[in-house]
Amino acid sequence: MATEREMFTVCEVKRRRVRASGGYEPFWKVKPIADAVQDNDTEFRCKDCGGAVKVVKRRSGDVQTFHVEHKLKTDSEYCCAGLHFLKATDGREARMSSTPVH
Ligand SMILES: [Zn+2]
Repeated sequence: MATEREMFTVCEVKRRRVRASGGYEPFWKVKPIADAVQDNDTEFRCKDCGGAVKVVKRRSGDVQTFHVEHKLKTDSEYCCAGLHFLKATDGREARMSSTPVH
């Protein structure tokens, strides 16, 4: 039996924008991971809980695909999109990551 994995294709990436008062400020932007890799983004987080994610590359033939999954199991257990959360049968409520990426 295949192991079930999280395979999110959209995440948040850290970008900078010009602040009205001058200088730059960081902000998080929802973006497909495939585009983020293409754009050389380096900081990612889960768009639903703000938790750390890791980028997983897969190659199948000539096609390279990307997805992200939670780094921490505890995020997956309480993120509203988390694999472990969705499988939980104890009626738990989703919450933001206890160790969000800023
Ligand atoms: Zn999450």
